[in-house]
Amino acid sequence: MIDRPSAPLALHLDSAALKANWQWLAKASGPARCGGAIKANGYGLGAVEVLRHLAAAGCRDFFVATWGEAAELLPHLGEASLGVLHGVREEDMALAVGAKALPVLNSPQQIARWKGANGGPCHVMLDTGMNRLGLDGHALDRTLLEGLPIETLLSHLACADEDHPLNATQLALFRQLVVGVPAKSLSLANSAGILLGPDYAFDLTRPGLALYGGIPRAEAAGHIAQVVRPHAQILQRRTVRSGESVGYGATFVATSQREAAVLNLGYADGYLRGFSGKGAALLDGQRLPVLGRVSMDLIAVDVTDAPHLGEGDWLELEFDLPTASAQSGLSQYELLTTIGRRYERRWI
Ligand SMILES: *Cc1c(COP(=O)(O)O)cnc(C)c1O
Repeated sequence: MIDRPSAPLALHLDSAALKANWQWLAKASGPARCGGAIKANGYGLGAVEVLRHLAAAGCRDFFVATWGEAAELLPHLGEASLGVLHGVREEDMALAVGAKALPVLNSPQQIARWKGANGGPCHVMLDTGMNRLGLDGHALDRTLLEGLPIETLLSHLACADEDHPLNATQLALFRQLVVGVPAKSLSLANSAGILLGPDYAFDLTRPGLALYGGIPRAEAAGHIAQVVRPHAQILQRRTVRSGESVGYGATFVATSQREAAVLNLGYADGYLRGFSGKGAALLDGQRLPVLGRVSMDLIAVDVTDAPHLGEGDWLELEFDLPTASAQSGLSQYELLTTIGRRYERRWI
């Protein structure tokens, strides 16, 4: 076997920052347990590693979207619990019944399927106004829940990242609906929901974004640390003479002679075209702006003021999530979940 050569792009993942973010969210959750949403491969970071680090910090309640995601994590769960947010389809039943992960049942059909198979403990999602997944809270048939061993009764907020009247409406409906339902715990808040205050915390919170360095509401600024830092290697350094252009579409035209470094990173790695002419690499606090369009596998940055940089050197990309979101027009969620597979993921 020939060893694979090291990748020319690396994702530095800060495990201390990940744990500190969870600890801050756990504190902000008050007496409620603080879980972790690790769907979509741990928001692009790598679900197995995220699970391992959060479990070491004390997190015991994890959530993924599908049974495919659950299957990858089951061997690593230890004492932790895992909820599968999309419930159970017929195709999932062979894996789901008797598994250590529990489905979050969303519809009368899913409940009938689970009861029919004597599936045992489960979670149940109530829709309180988002009209996404869950039993319709405005017309809840409580007989559906009879005989179900419910661990957690959940609902999900549609607008927790804004000061929107729907937050209070969903909270009030959730409070009404849970009366008399024999569930061991109640759960409403995602990252942003935790920041809405103690009324939203109930018994269990389910942050995702903020664990990974996302700032869902202003209250988190200064408390949540950056976890993900993309780095790319310089493949070539070149001189761009005045009047010449850089990249596809010739969108950047030099008005004076510039020096460009071509980095091994592009939109196929999740550095999407919204960063064209807007993103930057970082050097000792100095921004080295992206010149022209992002290509599939390459970008160029201006290194005129960094004469020592050359082929083989590495640069970090500016990627603190609120800044990168403003630059690229992508949500903080999209920035994380589109991170590509070609990065070497290095937990630091
Ligand atoms: C994704 C998800 C979360 C986590 O949300 P964030 O906004 O990333 O904190 C929590 N609950 C449910 C049901 C989800 O789908």
